[in-house]
Amino acid sequence: MTKKEVKKKTFQLIKGMKDILPAEQKYWEYIISEVKKIARQYGFERIDIPVVEATDLFSRSVGQATDIVEKEMYSFVDKGNENISLRPEFTAGIMRAYIEHGMLDLPQPIKVYTIGPCFRYDKPQAGRYRQFHQFNFEIIGEEDPVCDAQIIQIAYKINCVIGLEVNVQINSVGCPICRPDYEQVLKEYFKKHRSKLSEVSQKRLAKNTLRILDSKEEQDQSFIEEAPQQVDYLCEECRNHFIRVLEYLDELEVPYILNPTIVRGLDYYTRTIFEVTPVEVSDSDKEQSRQTALGGGGRYDGLIELLGGRSTPSLGFASGIERLILQIKEKNIKIPTPPSCDILLTQLGEDARKKALVLFEELTKAGFKVREAFSKNGLKPQLEIANRLGVKLALILGQKEMIDGTIMIRDMDGGIQEIVDYQKVIPEIKKRLEKLAIVNIKLDNKNKSMHPASEVPDKE
Ligand code: AMP
Repeated sequence: MTKKEVKKKTFQLIKGMKDILPAEQKYWEYIISEVKKIARQYGFERIDIPVVEATDLFSRSVGQATDIVEKEMYSFVDKGNENISLRPEFTAGIMRAYIEHGMLDLPQPIKVYTIGPCFRYDKPQAGRYRQFHQFNFEIIGEEDPVCDAQIIQIAYKINCVIGLEVNVQINSVGCPICRPDYEQVLKEYFKKHRSKLSEVSQKRLAKNTLRILDSKEEQDQSFIEEAPQQVDYLCEECRNHFIRVLEYLDELEVPYILNPTIVRGLDYYTRTIFEVTPVEVSDSDKEQSRQTALGGGGRYDGLIELLGGRSTPSLGFASGIERLILQIKEKNIKIPTPPSCDILLTQLGEDARKKALVLFEELTKAGFKVREAFSKNGLKPQLEIANRLGVKLALILGQKEMIDGTIMIRDMDGGIQEIVDYQKVIPEIKKRLEKLAIVNIKLDNKNKSMHPASEVPDKE
């Protein structure tokens, strides 16, 4: 074998997975911090659940005949012979935790949120990954429609805060009392058109008729448009519940679109269901609206009982972080940049490096935004780093400074260098940074007064 042939194998990402590189982190930090802020504002507490759960938990809650359970779960038998799956969503696990930890005995409703990765063995494409991240909000133990409105308000508001224009599409899928009647009517209707439906929908006709409404196949669309609508078959209680949800949304001025064709891919929903989609979806997006949905959720009043707990109404929603980031980039939305650093600490020679190691600790402890270049030797490469980082000051500890007990402070903008007593380095830096901040404020104000047009009130 030649040298070339024994070339080392390199590894690549597994299909459908994604690295989140340092340049991307600002988007993640921004979204997560806004989610946490909103959670605090609305009184939601954080819950974290494991990435793996019993496979049965998902097949029972999400539904045996759903795409997620049928095709998309990462399921395997572990070394203890347990059938386990990577979570494809959060709700089932959170409900399991609610039952297992006796949260029913706490004052209700329980309001929790979580953030983390989920896994679905789906066909990867833009906005659809096999490992993706959701944030998820749940209200457990309350039937009142005001909670439905609040959950929708939160799902909507997160997008608004980020600067995205979205629509809320809403529907009611009724309850176990009225849904079977509707399903029957729907089945009769689709049966009449069976031969003209797509193959997927023909299969769904037998197993899960409601899911035909979710079909993205072109040939099904005209039949879906003409299909009987669930809202016309709601029992009185479900109808009143739905009307009150809509009234509260009107009060909150959350814009919504009644969309009788949204059914959502999971079996456990009752009554309110909704999806948040970007405004101005292109035609190709419309065809694949499952990829463009930024979030979705609804009510699942029967879920906890289905999982062995006491009957407890609950509801929630989840949004995909990757999809939000795609939207932010597509719409060129400016997001706050992480705070830049003010100081670079440079050193020349081994003794100076040792002293710089300690000084760095002291500077960070004193609260300065400081970086170091410990592994570099010459001054030039270190000052290049200072320029690249855009710091205001460079601190230089050279051999002379070591002997004199001093340190040099270089103003990176003007290039002026001053030697100060090492013992006074902290107050000296503070003084300079404060002075630079005042100059910046003055410059800012001067710029404003040079452009008085920006201060003229808008004529309209
Ligand atoms: P779902 O539970 O399917 O309604 O998903 C809720 C949200 O999670 C969706 O609206 C998307 O934003 C996101 N999401 C779901 N599946 C994926 C995926 N495979 N890749 C990326 N994001 C996803």
